[in-house]
Amino acid sequence: MTRHGLAALPKAELHLHLEASMRPGTAAELADRAGRPLPPAGPFAGLGAFVHAYERARDLVGTLDDLHRVARELVEEAAAQGVVWTEVHVFPPTYAGRLGPDEGVLDAVLDGLRAGSAAVGGASAAGVVLGVNRGLPMSAAERSLALAIRYRDAGVVALGLAGDEANHPAERFADIFARARDAGLPAVPHGGEGAGADSVRACVEALGARRVSHGVRAVEDPHLLAELAERQICLDVCPTSNVQLAVFPSLSRHPLPRLLAAGVPVTLNSDGPLFTGSSLLQEYELVRTHFALDAEAVGALAETSLRVSHCPADRRSGALAALSAWRSGGG
Ligand SMILES: [Zn+2]
Repeated sequence: MTRHGLAALPKAELHLHLEASMRPGTAAELADRAGRPLPPAGPFAGLGAFVHAYERARDLVGTLDDLHRVARELVEEAAAQGVVWTEVHVFPPTYAGRLGPDEGVLDAVLDGLRAGSAAVGGASAAGVVLGVNRGLPMSAAERSLALAIRYRDAGVVALGLAGDEANHPAERFADIFARARDAGLPAVPHGGEGAGADSVRACVEALGARRVSHGVRAVEDPHLLAELAERQICLDVCPTSNVQLAVFPSLSRHPLPRLLAAGVPVTLNSDGPLFTGSSLLQEYELVRTHFALDAEAVGALAETSLRVSHCPADRRSGALAALSAWRSGGG
């Protein structure tokens, strides 16, 4: 199985943040135009330092055209890595007052994603996980919910949750996510990165999540691991990001093998290649070599990503057929 074989492996990326996906060349161009420094890359001392860098990247996006470009390039990069479907975390309220109303921000992103898909002949496409920030007032969460419901059939595929999980537990947002679920929008919250297993449990129990972004600190509680396996709740894991944000001290200490051994569904993701320097393809290559995964195990990661995604059914079935062909070709 070669790097070329991994690029041909049909897969989905389900945990990627829009501004953190910027091509380095695009970030440099936008920074130059704005007269601002480039945001620092990892490793980071912790989540706080990362959030600061993330905000600096977001500040480079100066117009709706910039947003459109970043979204379009995201799909073009995805297609080059064999990613047939991406779920992009976006937080329109964080542009409030700078790029106009939330609707205009979201339209620019969705148009950009569609333009990217068209540019690669439909080989790749993307949907938006519209974010709620744990640290903002509840009125901001209400705004995100209303926006997500309004765009439910126009590119928004789920409601996300991010931010300071240690100080803003998921339970506080139970009502928001219940209303999202009633409107047909599943929960895809971040949890188990900046706080422990209880935070992952809260995402599942209070928010009804069937997928959790990161979720890796679930390993701190064997009962929770068993429950995630039993209920087939998926963790959208980002190994390089976890090491660079000091969630684990090294890749050797990363719990990916333990999660897989426990039978927990896991997908592989890059989180933010602008900061980590590692694309999804590099993440596949990294875990393949570091954890000695064979073609079957790597194919299983890709299959999980397609099965648990909110990808349109025809795209999923086409990708699963291509994955089956990849497997019989030995990768
Ligand atoms: Zn994330």
